[in-house]
Amino acid sequence: MKFHLLTIFPGFFEGPFRHGVVSRAADAGALSIHLHDLRDWTHDVHRSVDDRPFGGGEGMLMKPAPIFDAVETIWPERKDGTRNDRKKVILLSAQGRKFTQSTARELAGLDELLLICGRYEGVDERVAEHLADDELSIGDYVLSGGELGAAVIIDAVARLLPGVVGNHDSTVNESFENGILDCPQWTRPADFRGWKVPEVLMGGNHAEIREWRRRAALEKTGRMRPDLLA
Ligand code: SAM
Repeated sequence: MKFHLLTIFPGFFEGPFRHGVVSRAADAGALSIHLHDLRDWTHDVHRSVDDRPFGGGEGMLMKPAPIFDAVETIWPERKDGTRNDRKKVILLSAQGRKFTQSTARELAGLDELLLICGRYEGVDERVAEHLADDELSIGDYVLSGGELGAAVIIDAVARLLPGVVGNHDSTVNESFENGILDCPQWTRPADFRGWKVPEVLMGGNHAEIREWRRRAALEKTGRMRPDLLA
């Protein structure tokens, strides 16, 4: 799968994708990440991507022209309005639909994803209305830029791509995949500072362990995320 990132801070992504699953997936050819500096589509000496909001108000907004030009250069077919179901433009936005594990699964079925990272007080609304296929928020809080959100989305989608996480079961038996949280887990030592691992997990009875884990996952979901059971 191909990811494109449109940002005024391409250097931001040098760290997050150099480690772990995303880096290994890129090395194995399961995904590629293409960074695009939005300022390459500006035409003034200051390379400005922002301007004052109509109607007044705090701060600056990202102008539509460099963003439209960038997307139409990366995917020229967008210029004549042609859409391809296997390629999506997503605008990162606190006002977007909430990004969830099921959104990650949807996006993992695409060939290409282009993520637009906002900055300042946000992005001219015409980008959401006439360019982006979707507007996604990673949670109910306001970040200073879309880059962190884009990194979250790429990480969550990447680990669902075929062959990226070695053990397929570890991506289907996870939190949110079955509508509840994953069960709590323990590793060695069996007794750490007097806190003992539940006896049943050391007994080797697989049916009993499966049932115990199912109940433990439900109990933890009820305690931590009752909204998921409602
Ligand atoms: N004025 C905007 C509002 O209240 O909705 C917030 C703008 S925020 C300071 C700047 C940029 O950060 C946004 O354009 C968006 O790209 C990104 N951003 C902020 N919060 C986000 C969130 N929860 N999810 C995804 N992106 C977010």
